[in-house]
Amino acid sequence: MTAPEAPVLEVREVSKIYGTGDARVHALRGVSLTVERGDYVAIMGASGSGKSTLMNILGCLDVPTTGTYLVDGTDVGALGDRQLAVLRNRKIGFVFQSFNLIPRMSALANVELPLAYGGVGVGARRRRALAALDQVGLGDRLHHDPNELSGGQQQRVAVARALVTAPSLLLADEPTGNLDTTSTGDVLRILDRLSSAGRTIVLITHENDVAAHAKRVIRLVDGRITEDHRQAPVDGPPPRLAAVAP
Ligand code: ADP
Ligand code: MG
Repeated sequence: MTAPEAPVLEVREVSKIYGTGDARVHALRGVSLTVERGDYVAIMGASGSGKSTLMNILGCLDVPTTGTYLVDGTDVGALGDRQLAVLRNRKIGFVFQSFNLIPRMSALANVELPLAYGGVGVGARRRRALAALDQVGLGDRLHHDPNELSGGQQQRVAVARALVTAPSLLLADEPTGNLDTTSTGDVLRILDRLSSAGRTIVLITHENDVAAHAKRVIRLVDGRITEDHRQAPVDGPPPRLAAVAP
């Protein structure tokens, strides 16, 4: 199922049309985009520009009307529902604006869940979930339910849940949209660290401060990519200095 040399994701001339007749909305209009392993991409755009539509396609939660989408070299359009579910579980970790944790289930159980779906045994599940929660600094909140955690802590649990499967792609839609400044900083630092460790991240945001953490910024306007540029991430390694003449 995996071509090792393939980009993590490859979007070719994707369009998405919702509705029919007078109610037709052209949400994406010929989007092409390649993301290589280890990249950290921020997708920006005004409300209604197609960000969530693109996120749903990248996350294999929805299919394009036309065009092709490949994850690790696998053509998503050629997969049935079952195969799609497996691909989502193995290859994509989701973080949503609204956390989407299961209520009345501990942080630990929430993080173990995708491993349970993936058929990982009880012992390995526990070990990996503990490690993931430790990575987001919540090793001391394992048995708290979501309603006993702050928004920032809930989102860190969600990040742990997203990365516990060691996915090819971490996909986040406005992950700091519901967080205060301090919690936003916590989550962005975790993403920075994951990026430095080689994780591939695609993050959707309309905030410049958030996008500043990415290595690459893509701008969507009315369903089209109008800009795609690389940048030096904030708090990243300093740009190399030119040799100074004596
Ligand atoms: P963003 O996330 O950038 O705000 P969306 O991808 O949610 O943008 O929406 C892009 C366009 O598609 C908008 O005009 C929106 O109203 C429309 N749209 C999104 N989802 C649907 C849907 N399920 N049915 C009809 N129109 C939709
Ligand atoms: Mg949206």
